[in-house]
Amino acid sequence: MSRPSLRHAAPRWPSTADVQARRAAGWEPLPFRSFVLKVHSRCDLACDYCYMYRSHDQTWRNQPRTMTPATLDRTSERIAEHLFAHGVERAGVVLHGGEPLLLDDHMLARTVDVLRSAVGNTARLHFTLQTNGVRLSRERLDLLSGLDVRIGVSTDGGRVAHDRHRRGADGRGSHSRVEAALELLGSSAYRHLFGMLLCTVDLRNDPVRTYEALLLHRPPAVDFCLPLGNWRTPPPGLHPGARGTPYADWLWAVFQRWYEAASKETSVRLLDDLLALLLGSRPRTEALGLSPVRYAVVETDGSLALDDALRTAYEGASHTGLDIWRHAFDVLLEHPGVAARQWGTSGLCETCRTCPVHRICGGGHYATRYRHDTGFANPSVYCADLAELIVRVRGRLHADLTDVVRRPMSTEVI
Ligand code: SF4
Repeated sequence: MSRPSLRHAAPRWPSTADVQARRAAGWEPLPFRSFVLKVHSRCDLACDYCYMYRSHDQTWRNQPRTMTPATLDRTSERIAEHLFAHGVERAGVVLHGGEPLLLDDHMLARTVDVLRSAVGNTARLHFTLQTNGVRLSRERLDLLSGLDVRIGVSTDGGRVAHDRHRRGADGRGSHSRVEAALELLGSSAYRHLFGMLLCTVDLRNDPVRTYEALLLHRPPAVDFCLPLGNWRTPPPGLHPGARGTPYADWLWAVFQRWYEAASKETSVRLLDDLLALLLGSRPRTEALGLSPVRYAVVETDGSLALDDALRTAYEGASHTGLDIWRHAFDVLLEHPGVAARQWGTSGLCETCRTCPVHRICGGGHYATRYRHDTGFANPSVYCADLAELIVRVRGRLHADLTDVVRRPMSTEVI
C-alpha cells in the first residue's frame, strides 16, 4: 500500500500520549455508528471546489478506482465485528466516492448485499448514496429502490449557480442532467428514496433565490455547506481579520426565508441543528455543537481514513496509517484525529473554550481550524460568521419565545 508524503504534516493532532492519558483518566471512546465507504475513487465531474481532487492532499491518485471483492468482504467483517462488539443496533453506511454511481450495477448490488449479510441480525444498516446526480437514471433508481438505498444529491441551486462550479472535465455544466435526475427522484415512483440536497454556499449567489431553486425539487431536506478553507487558505470572499460576516449574512437571509414560511417547506439541517442546540436539544449532525464524531472512512484500498474535508489542510491530513486488513475499527477510535473529536469542550482550543457560544458553535468544522503553525488548535476561520449567525438566530428565537410567554393563553386550547 503506497504511503502519502508526510513532509508537510508536522504533528497537528494531540499526541498518542495525550490519548493514552485520557484513557487512563477514564475517557472511553464512543463506537462508530456510521461508515463512509469510498466505493469509487474517481469522479465524472471536475467541480472546481472539490475537496477530494482540488486540495493540498492529492493522495486519491494512489487509490485503486474501486474496492476489490476481497477489500469489500474484509470491510464488511470489520464493520460487523465493531457493531457486535459494542452492541450498536442501528448504523449508517454512506456509499461515497469520488462518484459512487461510477460503480456498475453488479458491484453496487454486491456492496450492499455483502454488508447486509455480514452484519446479519446484529444491527440494522441504513444505506445512503451521495451522488453528483449525473448518472441517476431510471434504471439506477430502480436498482437503488430494490436495495433500499436513500439518495443525496449535490446541487448548488439554479443553472448559473450550479454550472459555475459543477462542470465536467470538458467544461460542460451538469445542471441539465442533474435537474432531469431530480425530476425523476422527486416523482411518486422514487420519492421514498429522496434523502436530501447538498448545496455549497457561494456568496455570489442570492441566498433566497438559491434556497428557492432547491425548493423547486421538493426535497425532504437540504444542507448548506460552507466552502472549505482555513487560516492558511481562506474560503472565497473571507478575509480573516477584516470587518464583516458575509457567510453569516448569507445564511441569515436563508434562515429568515425558511423560518418565516407559512408552513414548513423542507428541513434545513444546519438551521434545524442550530435551533435544536439553542433550545437545549441534540443536533442531528456534527456541523455544529460538541457532539462526538462517530463516523469512519474506508478508502477503496481498505485504508482507514479521517474526514475527507481535512484534505484541504495539508497533504496526508486524512491519512491514519491504519487499514482494514490489520486493524479493527476500535484502533481507529484511538487515533488522535478521531479521539480529539470526541472530547467535547476539552478538545477545543483555549479561545473556543472560553467563547460564550462554544456549546452551540462547537469550534467550527475541524478542517476550517487549520493554521500552518498551530495545526488544528484554533477557532474556525469562520469564527466571526458562526458567532454572528448564532447571535442573530438566538435573538430571533428569544424574541419569539418571549412573545409566546407573554401572550394570554387561549381557553380554546386548555
Ligand atoms: S464562535 Fe469562534 S471562538 Fe466561539 S466556539 Fe466558534 S469558532 Fe470558537
